[in-house]
Amino acid sequence: MAIDIAYCGLDCGACPAFHADERLTMDERAAVAVKWNAEFGGTHTAADINCVGCTHEGRHAPYCESGCEIRTCGMAKHGATCAECADYGCDMLAGFLANVPDAKANLEARRPS
Ligand code: SF4
Ligand code: SF4
Repeated sequence: MAIDIAYCGLDCGACPAFHADERLTMDERAAVAVKWNAEFGGTHTAADINCVGCTHEGRHAPYCESGCEIRTCGMAKHGATCAECADYGCDMLAGFLANVPDAKANLEARRPS
């Protein structure tokens, strides 16, 4: 899938849930749900494995819909991603990016010059 950068810098295009209703069978989505439940906890079902992407309006996977504080903050600030935020580098974002170098690189590439 094409690159689609989340508020936090993750590439939603690399996420199995991204537009899964158009790309995966229900059995494939069920397999992702089993994997996510083992890795992250929760009670995902096949129907939960579907998402339009972090910065887009519409259906999101459960954690990104309501559990992600970075996404909630980014939506409140109306930035395209955290890279466009006046408070870029805040403690919440820095704590996340410290362990996810790919997301950090994606945001750094979008920083206004
Ligand atoms: S917002 Fe959706 S597509 Fe992006 S990482 Fe979260 S679940 Fe995956
Ligand atoms: S304050 Fe931090 S988490 Fe919130 S939008 Fe700005 S950079 Fe992202």
